[in-house]
Amino acid sequence: MILSSLLLAASIALGAPSVEKNGVTILCYHAFNNKNSPYSFSIEDLDKHMAYFAERGYNFISWSDLKDGKTFGRKNIFVTVDDGNKSVYEAYFTVFKKYGIKPMLGIYPAIIGKMHYALTWKQLKELSDAGCDIAAHGYNHLYVNQKLYDSNRKAFNNETALSKKILEEKLGLKIEAFIYPFGVRSQVTIETLKALGYAGAFTIVNGETLSPLKINHARFELPRYMITQPTWKSTFAAILRKTNPKDKTRIASVEGGLFTPGMLYAAEKKPHTSDSEESKKSDLSFLDKQMKFVRENFMTMGVATYGYYSMWNKTMNSKFLRLDKKKDAFLKENMR
Ligand SMILES: [Zn+2]
Repeated sequence: MILSSLLLAASIALGAPSVEKNGVTILCYHAFNNKNSPYSFSIEDLDKHMAYFAERGYNFISWSDLKDGKTFGRKNIFVTVDDGNKSVYEAYFTVFKKYGIKPMLGIYPAIIGKMHYALTWKQLKELSDAGCDIAAHGYNHLYVNQKLYDSNRKAFNNETALSKKILEEKLGLKIEAFIYPFGVRSQVTIETLKALGYAGAFTIVNGETLSPLKINHARFELPRYMITQPTWKSTFAAILRKTNPKDKTRIASVEGGLFTPGMLYAAEKKPHTSDSEESKKSDLSFLDKQMKFVRENFMTMGVATYGYYSMWNKTMNSKFLRLDKKKDAFLKENMR
């Protein structure tokens, strides 16, 4: 559709850093063995998911690979698992380890060793010692945004700083990454994470990203594909279509996902196609409009369910614009 095509063309013309040589696809899992949750997969299914990529020649990379650019073309998969569910323990030792995968675990310390469904500190330490990377995922898993910053500075600091400190003390390592709870963030969140010495942060906006992180302008808004029961097949097909163009897998419902947050970000940061002042101005206003649209309707879908993703995925058509009032209200309240 026109909008996304134009933007895609604009991004290419702008000379955005290329994901062709060092693109990374980041997956976001939550839990395993819970039949009642659309965010949970059986251990057997997880094994099939990892085999799916392994058999197609994808490399599973670690956090340090992503950071330092130890990537191979575009077929790089980085696995993240949010929330510290106790099932991660079995998933790691049964599946991830077998494939040499070092997943990043997004942990919010409030539940560790306290809730029956959560990992214990001992298990977490064991996973960390075995090679899993650990990211702070807030302290209490709150919306870490401007509203929290303004209304409860202590809670905001707990989410961003205390979470890091506790994990570092308990696990004896440096915490370098942050995973936004619900994907929610504001500019003040990003600035705070930078000041605290984080090297990057993860959202739940679909897309491919760039490695090494030092050349990635979107390193505090790293995209991830949320893997859920209803969407995993179309998501995997979309990933394959993007990163492994020879593969013939095509699914109509994923047509339209033409641009990645990384490209948008690059477009936003370098919004001119030639050096003439006029061109800079006109491109800037065009991209401003695009960015506004995308921020309001797409980038902000931090907590959106897969329904919205599939709405997005179907096409950038008028249906997409009919976002319900409830979500609009949520976004107004919680996002920049
Ligand atoms: Zn979470």
